Amino acid sequence: MTIFERIILRQIPADIVFEDDELIAFRDIEPKAPVHILLVPKRHIANINELKETDTLMIGRLVLRASEIARTEGIAESGYRLVINCNRDGGQSVDHVHVHILGGRPMKWPPG
Ligand code: 5GP
Repeated sequence: MTIFERIILRQIPADIVFEDDELIAFRDIEPKAPVHILLVPKRHIANINELKETDTLMIGRLVLRASEIARTEGIAESGYRLVINCNRDGGQSVDHVHVHILGGRPMKWPPG
């Protein structure tokens, strides 16, 4: 079981900012920006390589929800970045699909 499943099951604490039947969002424990939230599907999917056609609606809602969270956090107008890391070279460290919502400061491009 990954750390995110344990957060979903309330086995370990997290600062949860949003939750419904399908998704959960909580603040990253090591924030890389003033706003750093992880938005996570509750169903375990290891990484975005594992997504199936039947996940299309869920992924659409994930992006929509991310934009709503950005608005709630007050970073929608100043701007923000959504990041999905995948596997080793992508910098993925938790094998459960998640979107990073990062904002509250200017982001550099290209990423390191
Ligand atoms: P990844 O590197 O897989 O894209 O992102 C995983 C993220 O999960 C990292 O930014 C890391 O700081 C965060 N993280 C790891 N363990 C925990 C935890 O126990 N609680 C919370 N809230 N975030 C965590």
